[in-house]
Parts: sequence; structure tokens; C-alpha cells
Amino acid sequence: KVKIGVLAIQGSFAEHCAHVRRAGGEAVEVRKAEQLSGCHGLIIPGGESTTMANICRRWNLFDSLRDFQAKGGAVWGTCAGLIFLAERINRGAKEGGQELLGGLDVTVDRNFFGSQIDSFETNLPCKIPGDDNGPFRAIFIRAPAILSVGDGVEVLGEYVLPAEKRAEIDDKALEKIIVAVKSKRLMATSFHPEITADTRWHKLFVEMAGDCEAYVGFGEDAVAKA
Ligand code: GLN
Repeated sequence: KVKIGVLAIQGSFAEHCAHVRRAGGEAVEVRKAEQLSGCHGLIIPGGESTTMANICRRWNLFDSLRDFQAKGGAVWGTCAGLIFLAERINRGAKEGGQELLGGLDVTVDRNFFGSQIDSFETNLPCKIPGDDNGPFRAIFIRAPAILSVGDGVEVLGEYVLPAEKRAEIDDKALEKIIVAVKSKRLMATSFHPEITADTRWHKLFVEMAGDCEAYVGFGEDAVAKA
């Protein structure tokens, strides 16, 4: 079975685990470096990205997460997880200088849609590889937007901004934003597929992770450090 670790610091990790199982994978909660051992993929859930970074720092997880990625494990970030996985954030970086895991060649705007009350759902046309079952019911909760992507990053979902949203943002010329991407073994979505009944994104990720080697951690080193 394809084994998927779900970073279980805070946020919607339990929902992700349940969806991974529905999608045919094995799910394991990850709070310590050694729990990554044997995983083919890792999900970084939504929640709050600065909190997640602070706890990762305190629990000594950054090196292990970076090592997991460097050794070719599949990684999927949803919402706060997308921010965490991004190489660049625009406004958030200036405000708080938060630490990022990085790796995914995109620029994100951390709270693009505003605050919690600006959360919303929409039927999003998506290009989920190997799937033509139509739009995905995407739930955006204080969601980040992807403003630009580097070469080799495949765009799988875009959200066309309705007039009322365009009126609220600074860049009036912006017509749409990117909300789902894939780049080799990395994947990211601004929205929360784990809280809908649809498991298509999880199936895609389990499939992607199935092509990766099971992670052999940096073993005793990591355990000693933790
Ligand atoms: N905007 C939040 C952050 O900065 C993410 C919100 C979410 O994950 N639902 O972390």
C-alpha cells in the first residue's frame, strides 16, 4: 500500500487521513521525524502557516521535512500547507518574515481573499490528470492565492475572480488566480479537498506518491535530535 504521512501539528490532519484511506492509501499522522519512515508521500494540511512553522522549528522537524522532499518523496500542501511549501510569499513575508519549507516554485499571497469571514465555496473547473468528472466543489477558508508560477509548474486549477472580489483587491487588473498546481512530485491547492466528499485530489496524490520510493529517514540522527 502507498503510505502517506500527514503532518499532524494542527489544522485538518484527521480529515486528510480519512480521505487518504478512502482513496486507497495508508495514512499515518506525523509529529516526529521517525514517523516519516516508510512514507511515499506527505500531506501538509491547512491550518495556520506561521503557527505550523513555529512548531516545526520547536519540534526540530524542518530538516527532516526538507530531507523527505530532497530524497524524492511526494509532498502536497493544502491552504496553509501551500504557503508552507511555496518558495516565495509576497505580503506575508514582509509582515512576519515567517519561515517556509519551500521547494515549490510559486509566489503566494497569504491571505489573498481577506479574513475568515471572506471564506467561500465554488464549483471550480479543474484539470485533474486522468479525470474528466467535471468541476470540483472547492472550499476556500482564509485562503492563499498563487500569483505566479515558475517554469515546469503545471496549473491544474484557476479561479476567475467575480466582480465583487476584484473590487476588494489592490490589483484591479487581475482577472484570475491560480489555486491548484503540480510540479514533479510536489502538489498544492489553495482550497480544502479533505472537507468535501470528493476524493479525486487524494486519489491523484496517492497515485503520485505510489511512483516514489518509500522514505528511509536519516534514522538515529533524527531521533537523537528530536
Ligand atoms: N491564511 C492562512 C495562513 O496564513 C491559511 C488558512 C487555511 O489553511 N485555511 O496560514
